[in-house]
Amino acid sequence: MSKSDSQGLHNGFTTANLHNDRRDKPEHGVLHKPIHTSVAYTYDDARDLAAVFQGKMPGYNYGRQQNPTVNALQNRITLMEQGIASTAFATGMAAIGSTMFALLKSGDHVISSAFLFGNTNSLFNTFRNFGVEVSFVDTTSVENVKAALQPNTRLVFTETIANPVTQVADLEAIGELCKNRQLIYVVDNTMTSPWLFKPKTVNATFVVNSLTKYIGGHGNALGGMLTDTGLYDWTQSSNILELYRKGDPALWGTTQIRKKGLRDFGATLGPEAAHHLAVGSETLPMRMDRASDNALLLAEFCEAHPKVKRVYFPGLKSHPQYERAKKLFNKPGAIMSIDLADGVDCFDFLNKLTCVVASSNLGDTRTLAIPVAHTIFFEMGAERRASMGIGDNLIRLSVGIEDINDLLADFENALS
Ligand SMILES: *Cc1c(COP(=O)(O)O)cnc(C)c1O
Repeated sequence: MSKSDSQGLHNGFTTANLHNDRRDKPEHGVLHKPIHTSVAYTYDDARDLAAVFQGKMPGYNYGRQQNPTVNALQNRITLMEQGIASTAFATGMAAIGSTMFALLKSGDHVISSAFLFGNTNSLFNTFRNFGVEVSFVDTTSVENVKAALQPNTRLVFTETIANPVTQVADLEAIGELCKNRQLIYVVDNTMTSPWLFKPKTVNATFVVNSLTKYIGGHGNALGGMLTDTGLYDWTQSSNILELYRKGDPALWGTTQIRKKGLRDFGATLGPEAAHHLAVGSETLPMRMDRASDNALLLAEFCEAHPKVKRVYFPGLKSHPQYERAKKLFNKPGAIMSIDLADGVDCFDFLNKLTCVVASSNLGDTRTLAIPVAHTIFFEMGAERRASMGIGDNLIRLSVGIEDINDLLADFENALS
């Protein structure tokens, strides 16, 4: 047994991630899993190729379904989320779309948070065209989820901290409800990342992470990951095809998603992106801690500033779910929104910022700011925006890891 394999030495979140590739004994003693670009694979005995295709032997057959570099990244995220298996996709949206596509059928009912990443909201509306009913409810209280239950409800979907108004879902109580009702519980952990919160602790069936955001962390690669926590009893589910009801029942859901979602839909993560994301993930805890600490100081500054009408940040005592965020998350995260005072032009404000960048991404090392109503939530229209509490002067900030004094000075200047 090598030193890294011995028990108890490398149990920390960061240590485990840094040394995980090496435990698989990659060629030449390299410390990173290499970028494998081969699409196809061969075996000395052609019977082995057939055995791999039939799932009787582990191995690779075609790059759309599996790749060693991507698998190494899947293993890292499984470790971070303390799940049993992860499946990588080209983007976070591909992870969400492929999961829903693989697990739901016409006549099923989904309960989703009404406060959703804009493209997820758009995607769920598209599923309605295929006979899947969707109810959008305020998931900050489990009572709203209970009220929306129907006999055909199969799945509940929520984010941890919603974007842009930062509502924190009633994650524990919804998890309890899903457990009692045998509902598939999908938690999008993108805003918190496994460093701040592990949805497995609230009984999630699946955890979604857009790797594009905090896990990759540098705005240089797209990717998505679905982690199976192993908590769901698939033998009770009517949504698993007969074909996949074999082998370890804990993996039936993941198997169906890998076949019907990843293989048939084909939104596969490329090995180069997987490499960028894996390297980025190594500093996740340091980046998130620093960004969260910066966000709190910036939020306090903005809350005290007369040109800011309101600040939305779960780390502020004025936030409606402050206590919940404090209880569930290691830190309150680094996403905040500010409503500028009437008379302040949001575009003028953005143009005056010199170190903060006007841009749509989030979870980058750099602080990014975007006028929500005019960009990412433009397509949904004024009425739906109003129902989500999104005004025309709302700016979403993804706070980065810059030196806090530079951020405070930039805001002070742009607001004056
Ligand atoms: C960005 C984001 C997604 C989608 O991820 P992509 O990698 O951009 O496809 C999903 N959910 C949340 C909460 C996000 O912020």
